Amino acid sequence: MQRDTQILEAGYAKASTPGAFVPPVQFSSTFTTPGDPAQYPHTYGRFHNPTWAAWEEALGVIDGGIAVSFASGMAATAALFGVVLQPGDTVVLPSDAYYTTRVVAANWLAQIGVQSRLAPTRNDGQLDALEGAKLLWIETPSNPQLDVCDIRRLVEAAHSRGTLVAVDNTTATGYLQQPLGLGADFVIASDTKALTGHSDVVLGHVTAAREEGATALRTWRTQQGAIPGPMETWLAHRSIATLPLRLTRQCDSALQLANALSASQNVEAVFYPGLASHPAHAVAARQMRAFGPVVSFDLGTRARGESFLAGLTVVREATSFGGVHSTAERRARWGGDAISEGFIRFSVGCEAAEDLLEDVQRGLAAL
Ligand code: PLP
Repeated sequence: MQRDTQILEAGYAKASTPGAFVPPVQFSSTFTTPGDPAQYPHTYGRFHNPTWAAWEEALGVIDGGIAVSFASGMAATAALFGVVLQPGDTVVLPSDAYYTTRVVAANWLAQIGVQSRLAPTRNDGQLDALEGAKLLWIETPSNPQLDVCDIRRLVEAAHSRGTLVAVDNTTATGYLQQPLGLGADFVIASDTKALTGHSDVVLGHVTAAREEGATALRTWRTQQGAIPGPMETWLAHRSIATLPLRLTRQCDSALQLANALSASQNVEAVFYPGLASHPAHAVAARQMRAFGPVVSFDLGTRARGESFLAGLTVVREATSFGGVHSTAERRARWGGDAISEGFIRFSVGCEAAEDLLEDVQRGLAAL
């Protein structure tokens, strides 16, 4: 069966099974369980839920491992740090990683005695920081600068030193990139973004290559309580049926947008791994199915960035990315990233590409 069909079927009852094939949403916080609780698959809503199970089955198919769902991407990140890292350990993080991941490392991990080393994604810069590390955390393409590293190369270098590897796969999703297939031990993602793609849920997950990793993550979730809501997981699962369709359209339009921006005199730089001019285009082409829905570019100054955004009529000015509705924002308004004040992170949705390109020309004309 082709991958797109596998994703469409993941977590649904088989075509040969009579009855409803769409999994129901199960809200029950407790379950009738007379006698020994060990005999029941479901007992209490913080331990397990049938709606999570269908969603996690789908995630497992997409990532090629054993998935554990969490209440947000940051809950998934904290869980992975929590199960892998002990006081005295060192984690190697991208210096250009999603800002909040670096904040967690600087605050909570430092407080519990875990040392963080930062090195750039670009040119596989984390290779030089691996000695003695317990965990290598990769983010590729990185948010928001869309730098790319060679996952297989980093995994081989890390494993030869006994270092575990986790890949934040948020910007690509498991449809476009499968880090576990390239040897990583864990994939983590914010499912708030392109994976669910409708800007209506906040969720995250970790997919482990091995059962012992998944068991530790489930125990963490039960004990720390960062559980996903049944309604969110049901909506998320529903969204997955269109993942290949959505991302195919989004990546196709994103490449058109990146080319159009590259041709504009008004744009100082365009960051998109799908462009032949991107420093890691060859690596991205090898390890990704397509180059993702996010295109970043630099308009130089805050005033020019703001004028561009004010000139858009189809694209919304909003944070987050990956949804079916295009959004854009001046990323420096949040602080924390080494980018210019005119840096725009543009998330390409499913609108007709003509409408999107026309809107961007309107924004550029407003400069
Ligand atoms: N990882 C990356 C790369 C992100 O961009 C984000 C959110 O923007 C997160 C993790 C955190 O995800 P969430 O907002 O779902 O907690």
